[in-house]
Amino acid sequence: MESGKNTVFISGASRGIGAAIARYLAAAGYDIWLNYRSSEDAARAVQKDIEHLGRRCLLLPFDVADEARAKAVLEPLLDSEVPLGFVHNAGITRDTILALMKREEWDQVMNVHLTSFFILARLFSKAMLSERRGRIIAIASVSGETGQAGQVNYCAAKAGLIGAAKALARELARRNILVNVVSPGLIETEMIKNLPLEKMMDMIPLKRVGLPDEVAGAVRFLLSPESSYITGQVIGVNGGLYM
Ligand code: NDP
Repeated sequence: MESGKNTVFISGASRGIGAAIARYLAAAGYDIWLNYRSSEDAARAVQKDIEHLGRRCLLLPFDVADEARAKAVLEPLLDSEVPLGFVHNAGITRDTILALMKREEWDQVMNVHLTSFFILARLFSKAMLSERRGRIIAIASVSGETGQAGQVNYCAAKAGLIGAAKALARELARRNILVNVVSPGLIETEMIKNLPLEKMMDMIPLKRVGLPDEVAGAVRFLLSPESSYITGQVIGVNGGLYM
């Protein structure tokens, strides 16, 4: 098999949606390069599950906003293997109304979601260009499409991610590298544990929050041969919250 053809790098995959994507893709036959920042035990548990499935799982702990570290970890690996896919999933929230938002809260959210896309997509797309194949998938959010009070930083970062992915899709199409966005609504993870979910149910036509595996299914589709004519698109996985 061609080197890296079945390998996918996922950022922020120790917990939540990223961990679900890693397990789901491993079950579908992919080897995983698994990035995380601090949840080492959780990352090792995901690794163990993936290895039980008979797939490779390389743990790559670094802060996605730290360009020097990202390069130091990834460049030597990319010299010998170019993954088929790069899934940009790592994320944080620092919610508060703009009037009370600290500069630090703005910067952290922009750095982890958006500057990290610049850092990682640059590294992966450069390597993919010579292979003339690749799939880049950014995990955005319905908040980046509609706006959400208390999340000016997060919405700006996610909307920026959508714009960046669409521009990159145009840049890379000629080299057979497809770039798409998966935009989840409310998905059951740590990130939404403090939200008033009961109150929010009325806004969701399917009347429930989504499961991480339901996001993973869309990612798997975007990595598969079935999606070979899809690029520059935003696929909502949101129970109809935004149509
Ligand atoms: P979680 O908080 O459950 O998990 C976040 C993951 O990102 C963890 O693995 C964490 O690793 C990692 N991470 C955070 N910061 C960094 C960093 N600087 N460098 C590397 N890894 C980092 O979040 P979700 O799974 O809910 O969210 C995943 C993505 O989906 C995010 O981009 C989020 O914005 C998006 N999303 C989530 C929705 C939801 O309802 N849950 C809705 C819409 C979008 P560690 O613990 O090791 O630090």
